[in-house]
Amino acid sequence: MRIDLHAHTTASDGTETPSELPVRAKEAGLDVVAITDHDTTAGWDEAAAAADREGIGLVRGMEMSASCRGISSHILGYLFDPKHPAIVSHNSTVRDSRSTRLRTMADKLAADGLLTWDDVVEHTPAGATPGRPHLADTLVGLGVTASRDEAFATILSARGPYYVRYQSPDVTDAIATIAAAGGISVWAHPMARTRGGVVTWDDIGDAIDAGLDGLEIDHRDNASDDRDELRKIAQSRGILVTGSSDYHGSGKPNLLGENLTSPAVLERIAHKASLEVLRP
Ligand code: AMP
Ligand code: ZN
Ligand code: FE
Ligand code: FE
Repeated sequence: MRIDLHAHTTASDGTETPSELPVRAKEAGLDVVAITDHDTTAGWDEAAAAADREGIGLVRGMEMSASCRGISSHILGYLFDPKHPAIVSHNSTVRDSRSTRLRTMADKLAADGLLTWDDVVEHTPAGATPGRPHLADTLVGLGVTASRDEAFATILSARGPYYVRYQSPDVTDAIATIAAAGGISVWAHPMARTRGGVVTWDDIGDAIDAGLDGLEIDHRDNASDDRDELRKIAQSRGILVTGSSDYHGSGKPNLLGENLTSPAVLERIAHKASLEVLRP
């Protein structure tokens, strides 16, 4: 069984639609793929219908934007109730803040003549959770930068003059929201040092104390010595270990199936989620 539990679509900042994802997953030889767009479940139904057609398994998930002492952190939620008020409220608050922030960043870029707001709207799929990748696509479309990667490394860098933050809940609150909605929480790419500052081992311990269910250890952004340390933590605290691609279509080099999660872990995720749903 080949299982990849982290992929994005045009419902957030991936470049392929939710109905294309299962087709690509099948081509990549996967048996199960998870749809985990940023702060939205809007792609679930379309992806589920396509997964049925392709005859592969779909895990319904989402990547929640969160923050840990000011450090941007992502928590994957799996198999939760998308209509739970805590989820609905998280998604609407974060997406509102992301929209305002996209406009502010666009205004700063427009002031320097790099793009216009109309250009940004053109490069942001309707209803998508807005993010820097849409600004990157705009800059690429206008020929200002050659790729998303170059845009992130230069103009859109978090250390650059155009960067603006957005509001997101504390990691422990994100974990509580997922649990309240009957889902399973996994800290995505916990040691992605190339993206900026990372959290401490103590922060991860605190998240486990707060109910974190697992760590996404096999991910290209975690270095090998960090993976060793993360595995020790997961082992000693008895939490789940996943591996996934973080596929964004052509928006990133990450390929479906480049990292995998074991069937035993997926079974534990599904079992635990069903128990959480039954909890009074
Ligand atoms: P944001 O949350 O809007 O600040 O944007 C972060 C998103 O951009 C994450 O989902 C990343 O997957 C994506 N991202 C970060 N770095 C890159 C890069 N170098 N190339 C393409 N996408 C990236
Ligand atoms: Zn993304
Ligand atoms: Fe992420
Ligand atoms: Fe992601």
